[in-house]
Amino acid sequence: MLGGTAEARALAAALVAVGVDVVSSLAGRVSEPALPAGRVRIGGFGGATGLAGYLTGERVTALVDATHPFARRMSAHAVAAAAATGVPVVRLERPGWRAHPHAAEWTWVDDLDQALQAGDGCRRPFLTTGRQTLARFLPWRDRAALVRVVEPPDFPLPPAWTLRTDRGPYERAAERALMAAHRADLLVTKDSGGSFTAAKLDAAADLGVPVVVLARPPVPDGLRVVADGAGALAWLGAPG
Ligand code: NAP
Repeated sequence: MLGGTAEARALAAALVAVGVDVVSSLAGRVSEPALPAGRVRIGGFGGATGLAGYLTGERVTALVDATHPFARRMSAHAVAAAAATGVPVVRLERPGWRAHPHAAEWTWVDDLDQALQAGDGCRRPFLTTGRQTLARFLPWRDRAALVRVVEPPDFPLPPAWTLRTDRGPYERAAERALMAAHRADLLVTKDSGGSFTAAKLDAAADLGVPVVVLARPPVPDGLRVVADGAGALAWLGAPG
């Protein structure tokens, strides 16, 4: 299982509970990761070829790509490694926020350049698109950004920015209080989907704060997708 998400941890727990020998793989980006049940390995494989070698060496019989919806490089490698080895692969990906009651009010963008353009009028943005995206917001270095990340970035933040390290799950009233205290005039988020981090969207609606949402990149061609752990268990033929 390629993990790093709450869904991956829940599926690992469900598989361990029914006696399946599961190995979860984490990228190693976070210094104190929430560890899934069962065996865990940490660190990159060295591209699709490295992953194929791992699958063969460990005699893996099924591959579940349960990485984050924006971890597309890993998904592409999963598809390539599965094709090279004949190991069946499925993608576990939680539905995005397109069906959220306020989704039609948000500005949907395809990349970070478009996000910068869409949010150009802001002065006090709340940035929640993750540590790996932060450098792209440096054109906003003089704006009073509130930046929330799981792990601090590896470059010094502009003095005008306020850093908050946190990992959720978040609750609507607290999100509202946070955004109100900052006097946020824009929320920028990825379409991560799920409930863990969705409270900020309701809080933004409560406060009338506009929202810019980075749309998901497409799923690699030919990769079968299931939306939840039950779908993954059914695909694996494991009792749910
Ligand atoms: P990515 O851009 O798709 O992958 C970059 C490289 O990181 C991959 O080529 C692979 O290195 C390594 N990698 C990624 N996921 C891995 C895994 N589960 N196990 C082993 N190696 C992995 O991925 P990313 O966006 O940096 O995400 C990294 C991890 O953070 C993933 O586990 C993902 O689920 C989690 N995460 C990502 C986000 C996000 O917004 N992107 C949010 C929450 C959690 P090699 O080529 O050397 O194998």
